[in-house]
Amino acid sequence: MDIFAHMQQALHDLKTAGNYRVFAELERQCSAFPRATVHRADGDTGEVTVWCSNDYLGMGQNPKVTGRMTEIIAKCGAGAGGTRNISGTNHYHVQLEKELADLHGKEAALIFTSGYVSNWAALGTLLSRIPGIIVYSDALNHASMIEGIRHSGCERRVFRHNDYQHLRKLMAADDPKLPKMVAFESVYSMDGDIAPIKEICDVADEFGAITYIDEVHAVGMYGPRGGGVAEREGLMDRITVIEGTLGKAYGCMGGYITGSEVLVDFVRSFASGFIFTTALPPALAAGATEAIRHLKESQVERARHQATVAKVRQALDARGIPHMHNPSHIVPVMVGNAAKCKWISDILLDQFGIYVQPINYPTVPVGTERLRITPTPLHSDADIKHLADALSSLWSQCALARKVA
Ligand SMILES: *Cc1c(COP(=O)(O)O)cnc(C)c1O
Repeated sequence: MDIFAHMQQALHDLKTAGNYRVFAELERQCSAFPRATVHRADGDTGEVTVWCSNDYLGMGQNPKVTGRMTEIIAKCGAGAGGTRNISGTNHYHVQLEKELADLHGKEAALIFTSGYVSNWAALGTLLSRIPGIIVYSDALNHASMIEGIRHSGCERRVFRHNDYQHLRKLMAADDPKLPKMVAFESVYSMDGDIAPIKEICDVADEFGAITYIDEVHAVGMYGPRGGGVAEREGLMDRITVIEGTLGKAYGCMGGYITGSEVLVDFVRSFASGFIFTTALPPALAAGATEAIRHLKESQVERARHQATVAKVRQALDARGIPHMHNPSHIVPVMVGNAAKCKWISDILLDQFGIYVQPINYPTVPVGTERLRITPTPLHSDADIKHLADALSSLWSQCALARKVA
C-alpha cells in the first residue's frame, strides 16, 4: 500500500464532499477586538470584524488580564519549566486552582493544558479506574468527552439529546448495583440550547449516579459570579464534577475540573494526560486567575453581552434571516447547504470585511449547515447593522428562503 497516496486520496475525498477545512489566517489586534487583520493566501492583508470568536467577552485583551500576564512573564519567565510533579508547579497554578474551586463552590480544582485535555483525561481516568462503572452520555456531547469515554473502555449508553426521560429508561434497565455516571454539557455550542440540569440531576440521584457537566460555553458568562448555568440555577452542589475552560470567556488558555478533595486527588494521581505533560506557563495561570476574579465581581461584560446578542437577533429578524432560537448567546444562522454556507462565508470575508467561519458536516448534521455567530460586548450597533445588511444581500443572491416574522 502506498501510504502517501492513501493520504492524498483521503484529502481529495474531503474536498470533494465540501468538508475540507480552510483556516483564516488572522492577526488579532489587542485593544481593537473584534477587529483583526486577515492575511490572505496571495500575501495581501485586510481588516475584518470577527463574528465567530469564542473570546466571548473580549477578556483576551482586558488590560487587567494582559497586564497581569506581562507582569508575571517579567517575574517568572516564559514557561513552567516542568511537569507539575517535577519542578513545574508554580505558585500561580496553585492560586488558580483555589480560585476555580471557590468559583464552583467545590473543595478542589485541577488545571490541564486545555479544556479538551481536561475532559479526555478526567473522563478517561474516572471511567477506566472505577470497576464496573457505566457512563450515560448525552448524544451531542463534545468530541473531547466522547474521546475520554471511548478511551476508558467502560460500558456506555447514549441518551437522546437533553432527553432525561430516555436517560431514566436507560438507567432503569441496568444493574442497580453497578456504579454510574451521567456526563453532559450545560450550553451546547452548535445549537446554543441548554440542558435541563435539575431534571438530569434528579434522575442521576434516583439511580445513585455521579454527575459530570461540561460548562465550557457557560463559565464566565452565566451566574452572578460567572460560575456557569449551574450557578445561575443554584445547582452547583448537585453536580459531582464541573469542568470548564480558560480559553473561551476567560480569554486565555487551559482547562480544569472541580470537585471533592478525594475525586480531584484521584484524577491528579492517576491521569496520564495530567501527569506526563509540562504545566501551563505561570503567566497564563496568573492571567486566567485575573480574568476569573474580574468576572466574579463585574456584571458589565455579561450584561452588555446579552444586550448585543438581543440586538443581533432583532436585526436578523427584521430582515427575515432565519436563525435558531435558543436561550443562550450563540446565534446559529441557518443556511442548510454546505456549498452555499462556504460561499457566503467567503464573500463576507472578501467583500464585506466580516469573518464568520462556515460550520458544515461532520460538526453539524447535513442539511443544517450554518454560520455560527457569536456576538461580544465589543460589537457596535454599526457592526451589527453591517452584518445584518451583508447577510440580507447575500440571502437574495443565493435565493435562500426568508422567514416572515
Ligand atoms: C471548546 C470545547 C472544549 C475544549 O475546550 P478547549 O479549552 O478549547 O480545549 C470542551 N468542551 C466543549 C463543549 C467545547 O466546546
